Amino acid sequence: MSANGTSITLNGRTYRWPERPVVVVCVDGCEPDYITAAVAAGAAPWLGEVVARHTSRVVDAVVPTFTNPNNLSIVTGVPPAVHGICGNYFWDRDAGAEVMMNDPKYLRCGTLLAAFAQAGASVAVVTAKDKLRRLLGHDMQGVCFSSEKADQTTKAEHGIDDALAFVGLPLPDVYSAALSEFVFAAGVKLMESVRPDIMYLSTTDYVQHKHAPGTPEANAFYRMMDGYLAQLAALGATVALTADHGMNAKTDAAGAPKIVYLQDHLDAWLGAGQTRVILPITDPYVVHHGALGSFATVYLPAGADAGIGKRLAELPGIEVVLDRAEACRRFQLPPDRMGDLVVVSERHTVVGTAAAQHDLSGLDAPLRSHGGLSEQRVPLLVNRRTSVPADARLRNFDAFDLALNRVTA
Ligand SMILES: [Zn+2]
Repeated sequence: MSANGTSITLNGRTYRWPERPVVVVCVDGCEPDYITAAVAAGAAPWLGEVVARHTSRVVDAVVPTFTNPNNLSIVTGVPPAVHGICGNYFWDRDAGAEVMMNDPKYLRCGTLLAAFAQAGASVAVVTAKDKLRRLLGHDMQGVCFSSEKADQTTKAEHGIDDALAFVGLPLPDVYSAALSEFVFAAGVKLMESVRPDIMYLSTTDYVQHKHAPGTPEANAFYRMMDGYLAQLAALGATVALTADHGMNAKTDAAGAPKIVYLQDHLDAWLGAGQTRVILPITDPYVVHHGALGSFATVYLPAGADAGIGKRLAELPGIEVVLDRAEACRRFQLPPDRMGDLVVVSERHTVVGTAAAQHDLSGLDAPLRSHGGLSEQRVPLLVNRRTSVPADARLRNFDAFDLALNRVTA
């Protein structure tokens, strides 16, 4: 990181010092259709203005299209090959264990949030779930807390005492739309008081996992969001909105989940205990998706038949199977944290380990999930005009670049 008072340089990219507060919002699971449908329904007038008059693009998220890899890409400006966070979960070959990747020790580069704070900017981060807080707040001086644990904040640890009282809403349930509303409400309160130079808000996809674009529940969520975003804009902020991934129904016409249980197939072909299927979507909060997504990585025994990948690729519902080198090249992933094969399932299909390993009893709505190529397209909106060539391939992790470097009016 380097800073000279007018810009900072981090991970090979240079960012201008903000002239006015910049708020980057990551709307978890925001398939572009959610915004289109909410605007069409008249539920999101502020977003409608941005789409019509300012900057509105559909851009590519990071594959695997999961929460942590994409949030970390957005705040570092680089893909997982550089920052190292390629899932919620990975197989640590050195430790010989499946480990959560939510500890900052797995992060391989600095964040823009830390870099701006270190250079003297006032920085604030609010995230819905606490699982992201330590990664996003790594090495960062400023305000950083989660809705989930807003009742436990201290000045020393989170940069703010009693965030719950500060925001003035009840502590939301971890599985609720209110968990995300709390993030926006906190963002507005912070803008009204601290007025951070840089703010990052990250929601949860509870609503998107349950409700399709254009449904009353989804439109109500976007209406809520629209009101808070309008307040941030009215307070003078440049607001850039993007998403960590899209979201699709993973069901057949009757609403039953379409699941390929990879471990069951591999055990049948090669014998139990020979291979290891890792689902990087797995985290402590799996009730709404049963740990089922569209991306898996498979560890094979030494000398395994090269035909295994081809056999997996022929299973109905599988979109693509790549070996580690090809997957890491194509998706910009860290090779040492990926298995021998990467398996991506089609738009309406998920991959599981063994059927017996997945508890689907918590699914009270038809399965909607993400992780694959079919959830890579996400919105990138800025409430200002920006100068980017119309044919440039933009990524969600260009959000800070757009908001800081490319605003023209
Ligand atoms: Zn997500």
